[in-house]
Order: sequence, then C-alpha cells, then structure tokens
Amino acid sequence: MKLIYRTDNDGLLKLAYSKDEISTAVQRLADAISNDYAGQKLLLVVVLKGAFIFAADLSRRIGLPLEIEFVKLASYSGRETTGKVKITKDLETVIEGKNVLVVEDILDTGITLEFLLRNLAGRRPKSLKVCTLIDKVKHPRGAFTVDYTGLYCSGGFLVGYGLDMDESYRELDAIYEVTDLPSRGGLNDNSM
Ligand code: 5GP
Ligand code: MG
Repeated sequence: MKLIYRTDNDGLLKLAYSKDEISTAVQRLADAISNDYAGQKLLLVVVLKGAFIFAADLSRRIGLPLEIEFVKLASYSGRETTGKVKITKDLETVIEGKNVLVVEDILDTGITLEFLLRNLAGRRPKSLKVCTLIDKVKHPRGAFTVDYTGLYCSGGFLVGYGLDMDESYRELDAIYEVTDLPSRGGLNDNSM
C-alpha cells in the first residue's frame, strides 16, 4: 500500500483511482449516454457540490446538446449520514417533458438519491435516469435503478475529484481513500 499524501489532521490518503482510471470511466459513461440519448436533448441535473468536477468532464464528452442544472442537498454531518435529506438549492428550470439525467458523485446508502428522484419524478420529466461516478454497492438499491455507474468500490471514505472531507481535498485530480482516521469530535458541516 503506497501512501502518497500526508495531512496533519485528517489521516493518510491512499490512492484509490488514478487520473487515468477516472478518465477511462468517464469516457465510457459519456459514450453510453451519447448512444442512448442520440438525437434527443438532455438535461443534466448535477448534485452539488461533490459532482461538479465529474459533471464538468462528463458534459464535455457527451456529444449531445445539453442543458445543465444544479441542485444541492444536505444530509451528511461530517462522515455520517443523518438520514434526513433536504434540498438547499433547487433547480432553476422546469423539467416537465424533458429527458433528465441526475449526475451524482458517489452512492452510499442511496438515501440522498432516493429522496431526489422521488422529488424530481413529481415534476413529470419525460424520462428520469441516474449516472453516478462511484457506487459503494454496500446497500441494496431496491428503491431505484442506477442507469450508469463509472466505478464500483467496496467501502472506505473517498476524497478528491470533487469529493470532500469537511470541505477539503475536492481539488485533487485523483480519488483517494482516507485511512488511519483520527477520532474527530464536533463536526457540524453538513454540506455535500
Ligand atoms: P447516501 O445518501 O447515498 O448515503 O450518500 C450520498 C452522498 O454522501 C454522496 O453524494 C456524497 O456527497 C456523500 N458521500 C457518501 N460516501 C462518501 C465518501 O466516501 N466520500 C465523500 N467525500 N462523500 C461521500
Ligand atoms: Mg453527492
């Protein structure tokens, strides 16, 4: 195990997915999406903040006319989900009659996405699908289908390529697993 990034307070970062692995996964997703929606218009609903880098790369590789909208949800407190999700920034357009593709960074319990999909479905889009860069596949996905998955991972807390830990590490261009976590009390940041 090669530890390639050291921080003072947040444990060690171990490379999980390199730039190249991410790039290959993003290209594969873009190809599948371009193929499936060929000849149609598509609205990407990007889930902030974590999916912003993924969406920037994905959108430039999908060879179709796109609209791009952002939503922001909150349910996590530090590294733990609270289970209660709310929309803290909503879409700024009507999605009725449109092909909507939700772009997520990472799926863990699926609680966040289930909430969002139920909410969006109520707005009567023409179609509603999901694309996630990473699926932790720890939990059964009974309530919804994930249409496009970039990478499957079995666990661990990941940062980089948009993913944060307490708002740090989003700018890293590869994805790392946080290891050797110190005990951290008093976290109160619930942004995603
Ligand atoms: P879920 O509701 O599926 O349990 O959690 C989904 C959201 O929690 C993700 O969109 C992401 O914002 C956050 N999350 C879940 N697992 C991780 C992780 O390993 N690293 C980071 N940085 N965020 C995570
Ligand atoms: Mg997210």
